[in-house]
Amino acid sequence: MDIKGKKISIIGAVRSGIAAAKLAKKMGAVPFVSDFSPAEKMTAAKNKLDAENISCEFGRHSEKVFECDLIVTSPGVPSDSDILKSAKKKNIRIISELEFACRFCKGKIVAITGTNGKTTTTMLCSHLLNRGGLKAYTAGNIGLAFSEIALDVNENEYVSLETSSFQLDFIEEFKPDYGILLNITPDHLDRYDNVFKNYIDSKMNLIANQNEFDFFIYNSDDENIPRVIGNKSVNVYSFSVNQKIKKGTYISEGKIFFADKEDEEIVCGTDALILKGEHNLSNALSVVTVAKIIGIPNAVIKDALASFPGVEHRLEFVRNYKGVDFINDSKATNVDSVWYALRSFNKPIFLILGGKDKGNDYTRIEALVKKNVKKIYAIGASADKVFNFFKNDTDVEKVNTLEEAVLKGSIDAVENEIVLLSPACASFDMFENYEHRGRVFKEAVNNLPL
Ligand code: ADP
Repeated sequence: MDIKGKKISIIGAVRSGIAAAKLAKKMGAVPFVSDFSPAEKMTAAKNKLDAENISCEFGRHSEKVFECDLIVTSPGVPSDSDILKSAKKKNIRIISELEFACRFCKGKIVAITGTNGKTTTTMLCSHLLNRGGLKAYTAGNIGLAFSEIALDVNENEYVSLETSSFQLDFIEEFKPDYGILLNITPDHLDRYDNVFKNYIDSKMNLIANQNEFDFFIYNSDDENIPRVIGNKSVNVYSFSVNQKIKKGTYISEGKIFFADKEDEEIVCGTDALILKGEHNLSNALSVVTVAKIIGIPNAVIKDALASFPGVEHRLEFVRNYKGVDFINDSKATNVDSVWYALRSFNKPIFLILGGKDKGNDYTRIEALVKKNVKKIYAIGASADKVFNFFKNDTDVEKVNTLEEAVLKGSIDAVENEIVLLSPACASFDMFENYEHRGRVFKEAVNNLPL
């Protein structure tokens, strides 16, 4: 894409926006960055942009945003935000940072999307490819912004790219060599006019430009992923933890199998995996599929699965305190992730649940709570809702702080039981973000007296 001399407005001045502005400048364009957050909160961003002589504004989106040839939008900016709506009305071309960066990237892209599991899978993917002796970058919503590394990646190198649906909303030519679709469950529907189909369509943009040289790898256990992908020529593989697959990866009798046409082989045992839970097995299968297509040897795949410890705040083991395991799953910000968390342990659970509710329907986990959860500590703004929903299913206690929940858990739980923070909610009622919530939890656990 030739952007020399072009005026490019970039919405959002966090990691991706700043990286896109720098990339635009490097490629000879004239970037202007606009962020709605107040200037006093954005001093770090302003300093970085000033250092690059990139003009910017904070606390508003002025008319200057529209004086451009192209708008590049950051992953955190909802597709239905006022600024993007206005730009659309004015017929200004809008692309996502993902689309922008991919125009400058020569390497092979493994794009990973889904409602849950993106970060874990993206990190596992680069870990596995690197173990296989290939150079793989981790980018997108985690690690480095795609725009930050796009120019560095050579033709025979890989980018393991965490891809959110907002990034996929504004693509034109984005075409991953490998597109992984992990799962689709209702989340962020508020940003898709509450229409589930719109959210699904956005995820399916992953394959919009793929052709016969590319691979689409989807979770065949997920009933929301459309089975009909039109008459596209893309190579389709799938993965399943429940059933045999003809073309793809599946589990049978504790082993990971890979099947391709007539051929079928055992890759390794599922016990190779450090990651806990069936959902993580499913995530791992998607990456194993890519590895098999690329031709990475089974021994390397096994070694990579056995050396990947998982990601902070996702079913992260914190401490065994007097025989009780404390687990930090602060990233579980929706009911579906809690459903998986509750199925990941075969020990009784003391569950810390609640926070900023995004319209949760807890029916999905009610049976599991009855079966596996001895007690719930209800925290945050949704404590009353949690209490009222579960009070007939199990013991529920409302607590004021996360620290109090940890302390109570340490008293109530006995050897071979689990205290699990898996809140099903956003954290903004009590914390800066889910990482902050997870850190507070870990600190409280590590401070429990001996
Ligand atoms: P994302 O980047 O999509 O938010 P993460 O890897 O950060 O995904 O995991 C987010 C939450 O979802 C964690 O609580 C994690 O345990 C849970 N999770 C991970 N993989 C899956 C999956 N395949 N299905 C459901 N939940 C999952």
